[in-house]
Amino acid sequence: MLLKKQVFIIDTSAILSGKPIQLNNRCMMTTPGVSDELRPGGRDYQIFEFLKETGLVIHAPSKEALAHVKATAHQTGDDARLSTADIEILALAYDVNREPETEAVILTDDYSIQNLAATLHIVFQGFSQKEITKKFKWVSRCPGCERRFQEPTKICPVCGTRTKSALRRQQDL
Ligand SMILES: [Zn+2]
Repeated sequence: MLLKKQVFIIDTSAILSGKPIQLNNRCMMTTPGVSDELRPGGRDYQIFEFLKETGLVIHAPSKEALAHVKATAHQTGDDARLSTADIEILALAYDVNREPETEAVILTDDYSIQNLAATLHIVFQGFSQKEITKKFKWVSRCPGCERRFQEPTKICPVCGTRTKSALRRQQDL
């Protein structure tokens, strides 16, 4: 059996963590949305420029992958927590995994990205914090009447109070 080539996909949190990222002949990618989140001039931008010079590839995900990730994010309730860049990272990983020779590993400290990656069967590694060990799902909780809603709900349909988000554990990874 052939070993798949690992492609590391880094998100904004990995760059902002300030921890050294070494490519060491590893294939590393990120997306245009991550590039857009970094302001020119700052230290993070310098790190980003250095990574690009040493081989970091910026690649946009396919439209199909973006649509698939957005639909899945809506199901898990992560969509409100994910930026355009976050969605792109997951979609790029999805594209990489559709190629027979490559396997994506997302490097991220963002729990919503990790949660959705787990749902999409994408491998991820935490960067500076410990990664999540359980899949969870965001549910809406009404502080007025204490009802819970499995579907993301902004305003309680029963009493009209603005809901809050709560985490519900799903299963072991
Ligand atoms: Zn209510």
